[in-house]
Amino acid sequence: MTVVLVTWAFLVTGCAAPAPPATPPPSRPAEVPTRAAAQQTLQRLAAAILDRRQADFQAEFAAADAVLRTTTDLWWANLTALRPTRFALVAGALDDAGTGEVTIDWAIPGDSGTATHRARFTFAGAAARLTALRPADPPGARPVWWSDPIEVVRQGRATAVIVGAGTTGRAWADRADRAAGRVLAAVPESLRRGWSGAVVIEVPATAEGYDRLLGGEPGRQSGYAAVAWAEGVADPRDPATERIAVRVVVNPDAAGLDPRAADLLLTHEVTHLARYDAGSAAPLWLVEGFADLVAYPSEPDLLATAEQNLRATVRQVGAPTALPADDDFRAGSDRDLDRAYLLAWSACLLISERYGAAALHHFVAAAGAGTGVDRALRSAAGVDLTRFTADWRQSLIKDAGS
Ligand SMILES: [Zn+2]
Repeated sequence: MTVVLVTWAFLVTGCAAPAPPATPPPSRPAEVPTRAAAQQTLQRLAAAILDRRQADFQAEFAAADAVLRTTTDLWWANLTALRPTRFALVAGALDDAGTGEVTIDWAIPGDSGTATHRARFTFAGAAARLTALRPADPPGARPVWWSDPIEVVRQGRATAVIVGAGTTGRAWADRADRAAGRVLAAVPESLRRGWSGAVVIEVPATAEGYDRLLGGEPGRQSGYAAVAWAEGVADPRDPATERIAVRVVVNPDAAGLDPRAADLLLTHEVTHLARYDAGSAAPLWLVEGFADLVAYPSEPDLLATAEQNLRATVRQVGAPTALPADDDFRAGSDRDLDRAYLLAWSACLLISERYGAAALHHFVAAAGAGTGVDRALRSAAGVDLTRFTADWRQSLIKDAGS
């Protein structure tokens, strides 16, 4: 899966201007701080996190609130383990209860961009001490450090953030490090779009935790074993937005995967990180097929199984007349999803075998940068999309019959 974006809808209601009040509106209660005071609190809080000054961090929260203290202790432990390289908080307007939206920009070592989350914080008193911390209303995504203890395991190029206590952190960090090495070896530098070679993966403990991390409707991503996730709320296609941190989020259901399948999965997802596919203009068959083409060669047994499954699929339902559509990667049964990935991979494999890896790489780069697919394919491989699709169909029929 390439990218998950949370879009935000703003509802605006229009109405006639009301008559001016006969008397001036009451002024705000004295205990509600100004937005400027709230912002100063947030700046001190962020600085304390970055400089690891625990007493100064705790000083920004209302004292003698046991529930709040539990949360702030958890946040301190989690953020200390994550070692953020960036942590910035911006206050929105406060309502009469002193509550306002807060934007959280953050990054950790290994990120190639910034994650952005939104939350609702409540401030009180002239000093704007924090009295309540709430996540954004659903379907907002929640940062991995928000509600459960985490374990952070660093290994080579990888940082694995594991939610809850467990023994899997080292294995996931090893896998992610191995995947990064494979992608560095297989994806030429010209195709790596600002990727540092480092990988951050997040492994939630439960299906609910997976949903909270990714936001959106519960269960929306449950069909995927992992996603390369443009972390937070911003749209990476917006050129005005700064580069987004893309991390790999593993579905807890994937914990029981065969180790080779887990390696394949992570190599596929890390290819998306390297390509910064979150902002790709290419069709998904090319994005997903290329990621599988990078991943399969390291796992010969799984490659052989994929070839068998592809032949079986073509025998069962016939050779397709068109390349998989973007929607084929987003919906349908597991079998349909598997078929879309197999077909996408087979198309990329055919381009590489028939026209060479360099032609495929040119095609991937051009289509990803916004050149139309037909034009990009013609300039990279000298064949138009209609002709290529017919050739690909014939090759599938031939392979299935042999
Ligand atoms: Zn993918």
